[in-house]
Amino acid sequence: MNITRILAPNPGPFTGDGTNTYVVATGGEAVIIDPGPMIDAHLAAIREAVEGLKVVGVLVTHHHLDHAPAANPLAGELGVPSYGYGDYGGFQAISAIADGDGVRVGTEVIEVLHTPGHTADSLCFAVSDGVFTGDTIKAGTTVVVEDMSAYMATLDRLAALAPTRIYPGHGDVIEDGPGVIDDYITHRRRREADVVAALAGGPRSTEDIVASVYPGLDPALRPLATQSATAHLAKLREESRVERTGVGWALR
Ligand SMILES: [Zn+2]
Repeated sequence: MNITRILAPNPGPFTGDGTNTYVVATGGEAVIIDPGPMIDAHLAAIREAVEGLKVVGVLVTHHHLDHAPAANPLAGELGVPSYGYGDYGGFQAISAIADGDGVRVGTEVIEVLHTPGHTADSLCFAVSDGVFTGDTIKAGTTVVVEDMSAYMATLDRLAALAPTRIYPGHGDVIEDGPGVIDDYITHRRRREADVVAALAGGPRSTEDIVASVYPGLDPALRPLATQSATAHLAKLREESRVERTGVGWALR
């Protein structure tokens, strides 16, 4: 199996150096994972990377604009299906795939894992060599989590998979998969404990909780920190560990 990473020229605060597009080739066939935004130079680089290979599909980890927009145009051009969660968030894969499905390429089968958390439609793709994680695990930039309960369950599932390598949607390929997944789990548990600790003295507003959990926070990062704290609070509320009060939140 030959895995080529092609970096899209779309750097930014959430994309790091840019989106990673991958070409997974084996036995003369290939799939393209996350072709990214419609950028001519990037599409040209992808075409060059698959030259001489029979492309059998375009896989999409999730609907976000830095991952999915080029998928259907490129699949159409190549005369193959795009594969993704289905119709979600403005992106509709030609062929919907679900947890446990397999996408055959050459002599290998890419295993589909439904891994919600970053988004509800997030998928990971496991191969013999490791796992493609989209934005569920990234290298060098923070993962924004929509659903913390789902995300922590996803991390536990990836930990059980114990992939040697992780091919993230952004950043360098991770050689110590299990170690990095462990770090992610530790980080989220610590944040959750920080949120609980922030409420130990009595009810507080979300704003106060954010100030306590992220001391010295760069104001530019406040929306992101607030989103993260809110996701933790929603998870704790589902678990009946916190409740809404007049000012914001309280321990139960
Ligand atoms: Zn994303």
